[in-house]
Amino acid sequence: MKARKLLMIPGPIEFEPAILQAMAIPTTSHVAPNFIETFGNSLELMRTVWKAPKGQPFIIAGTGTLAMDMAAANLIEQGDNVLVISSGYFGQRYKDILDRSGANTTLLEAPLGENTPLETIEAALKTKSYKALTLTQVDTSTGILIDPKPIAELAKKYDVLTIVDGVCSVAAEELNQDEWGLDVVLTASQKAVGVPPGLALLMVSEKAMNVWKNRKTAVPNYYADWSNWLPVMQAYEDRRPSYFGTPAVNLVVALETSLKIICKEGMDKRVKRHLDLAKAFRAAITALNLKTLPTTALAANTLTAIYYPEGIDGAAFNAKMNDNDIIIAGGLLPDIKATYFRIGHMGSVSANDLMAVLGALERTLAQLGHAFEIGKGLQTFQTEILKLNP
Ligand SMILES: *Cc1c(COP(=O)(O)O)cnc(C)c1O
Repeated sequence: MKARKLLMIPGPIEFEPAILQAMAIPTTSHVAPNFIETFGNSLELMRTVWKAPKGQPFIIAGTGTLAMDMAAANLIEQGDNVLVISSGYFGQRYKDILDRSGANTTLLEAPLGENTPLETIEAALKTKSYKALTLTQVDTSTGILIDPKPIAELAKKYDVLTIVDGVCSVAAEELNQDEWGLDVVLTASQKAVGVPPGLALLMVSEKAMNVWKNRKTAVPNYYADWSNWLPVMQAYEDRRPSYFGTPAVNLVVALETSLKIICKEGMDKRVKRHLDLAKAFRAAITALNLKTLPTTALAANTLTAIYYPEGIDGAAFNAKMNDNDIIIAGGLLPDIKATYFRIGHMGSVSANDLMAVLGALERTLAQLGHAFEIGKGLQTFQTEILKLNP
């Protein structure tokens, strides 16, 4: 029955059949005319999804971490000051990456379940001259959403580049890269973009490309260096053959398929679908007497982080959910890893998928002796969804 299980972790997610079928085509040459067209289309479609008509897109074989590494390697030079705004595990990862690129980093870690107040960010920006700041739009370890817009306004005021880790948000949360003045917004294929793991995707502003062009020192990492990749991206957009490193041909074919599906739905509608589903799902979770990890913080629309109820063993809970055909993720934040679990709801996720999750969740909780009214989560979800979509 493996094939009937729903993969509801925060990436990789359930992929559309058309996207998986696109992966199965005979692999063509990376300079075949039809593949050049596919690659060029994908770059153009990225601008629509990111709302970045003036951005420079990059499609690189690798994971989200490579995308983070690439932004750091190309924009940061030895001794540059970088402010890391963290709301969980991936903020800490960005600090580690930046430290490795020679940056002088300052970490602003929000208290658990909260966002760092704008005043705290501004106070930090006043203390020294920063080259860049980073933020995680959705930290997948905590399910916390950061609104990049007001932070980008502060960054502009202090002339600081804004780098957004959008691995768990791009193509699902509201994003307006050009209008908000974000310099890099990066992601990976396996989350809300809806393509199997293996592609690092970045969109870079004109301003950031100029900062990179005016570097005093060479980019220390050969594979990450935009000098090698920019001509390839430009060639594909001009529909010319080019080569630096062999692209992940089948993944790029799948990416074009997915970006077309996303653009057909339309970003505004897609964001609203994620918002409605997340809102109804959180209401159902509360109705089941469960607590979510974000307290005063904004809650993400791509996943929900939920504490195990008092007295219920996490491993037993996850195993029972699996027996009930829903695959969920455990905790990720080292200090509290064993106390909570995460459910992803992004990409092509539907109300029906979340009804299946809630059904399994109710059965699991009942089997493990949690006190709640059976059917209350499902009923709350239905009521909320109907309220949002009358
Ligand atoms: C998943 C994730 C990453 C890392 O992506 P990989 O593809 O696993 O390297 C980075 N940041 C965030 C916010 C993520 O959700």
